[in-house]
Amino acid sequence: MSRASEAPLVIKFGGTSVGGPAEFRRAARIAADAARERPTAVVVSAMSGTTDALLGFANTTAADYSTRRTSTGATREGSVAELHRALADRHLGAARAAVSPEHLPAVERRIVSLLKRLAEVLGEPWESPAARRDAVVQFGERLSAGILSGVVRSLGTPSEVVSEDPIATDRNFEEAEVLVEETRRRAGERVRPLLDGGTVAVVPGFVGRAPDGAVTTLGRGGTDLSATVLGRALGASEVWIMTDVSGVLSADPRLVPEAATLPRLSYREAGVFAGLGAKVLHPKTTEPAAAAGIEVLVRNTFDPDSPGTRITAESTGPGVRCVALRRGIKLEVPCSRGHRSEAAVAVCIGSPTKADAARGRRLLKKRGIPLLHCGVTSAGLVFVVAAPVAEEALRALHEGLVTPASKMLAGEPAAQQEVA
Ligand code: ADP
Ligand code: ASP
Ligand code: MG
Repeated sequence: MSRASEAPLVIKFGGTSVGGPAEFRRAARIAADAARERPTAVVVSAMSGTTDALLGFANTTAADYSTRRTSTGATREGSVAELHRALADRHLGAARAAVSPEHLPAVERRIVSLLKRLAEVLGEPWESPAARRDAVVQFGERLSAGILSGVVRSLGTPSEVVSEDPIATDRNFEEAEVLVEETRRRAGERVRPLLDGGTVAVVPGFVGRAPDGAVTTLGRGGTDLSATVLGRALGASEVWIMTDVSGVLSADPRLVPEAATLPRLSYREAGVFAGLGAKVLHPKTTEPAAAAGIEVLVRNTFDPDSPGTRITAESTGPGVRCVALRRGIKLEVPCSRGHRSEAAVAVCIGSPTKADAARGRRLLKKRGIPLLHCGVTSAGLVFVVAAPVAEEALRALHEGLVTPASKMLAGEPAAQQEVA
């Protein structure tokens, strides 16, 4: 079956979306269903917690090789064995519970061979601690990719792991920059033929390859960026970011429990929000999507029928879409208890109006929150307040300024109406 003329879909699954056997089955079902409609490439994160475990290990074993002791005093051999056992238990356990007997042996062989290679990497000399951390941490995504591909095959849908990394980068370990043209060439050679043949191509996220073959990574949370980078390289029409919440929320839910899912965002708004720490998207995710006009849908793996957030070039109209905090501003401010405190900036992202600014000032005044500065920047409307009251200010601005989804869709910002 040739599907060469169809624009592919790229689906990214985050760490909690492949957190265990049930999650792998859910993710595989989503990928297999999508592949019935159009060519589908999957980009997958490490199982949740695996990256932290690998990095923690790489850091504690970075001590002098000659002592053969880790920085915590354990013998290197002992801790390697422990890491090996923990990763084997988790990944072989997930594979045995989620992959069909027919496809299991190949998946198990891949896991065992990756763990053997990881043990070798741990004993090799590396040019720098960052290069070594990338060489170690890459295994999380490679392990989960093998399992996910096996589970997709178990559903009767052809699937392969893309074993030669398609994302080309520079040699800036742990925060590598993507080389766009070389990535396009590699994706055309290594991924496109699988898609054209109706196979679900599973790509380990987060990792890249420098021109000399060195393994790099795109920074923490980088699988989101892998997905849009691959989407641009393949000429995809859509990228789905599948995660554990029902889309991009109007604020960090840990700071603002009332935060609600945003139906739409522009590339610019999503980019600013992610850059200010909205953890659901790696800060650079929207750059390749905007450059190539790819729609990004942020959706919930555990509630696939909910519409999620659609991120496109289209403006979402006037008003405030979402709010974020930038902490640790060095502007020192005297506070009422006598000592000095840092400031923080509450940023209202969207296309705020003058009325939004006036309303924001009134909201803070009403709550007795002293405003140190208010202004408009390219990021949005900014309210500078003392750090200890910043979260309260953020909640007040969220409650009073963010346009409810129902009104946003109708192009009718709430703040404007109420202030007018
Ligand atoms: P994944 O493993 O799927 O990449 P992440 O943990 O990186 O998921 O991102 C999803 C998490 O980001 C959510 O569980 C949520 O707690 C947190 N989060 C912070 N801010 C936001 C926001 N504005 N919208 C959605 N989620 C957010
Ligand atoms: N596994 C990597 C991390 O935890 C990349 C990702 O999940 O996006 O940072
Ligand atoms: Mg993430």
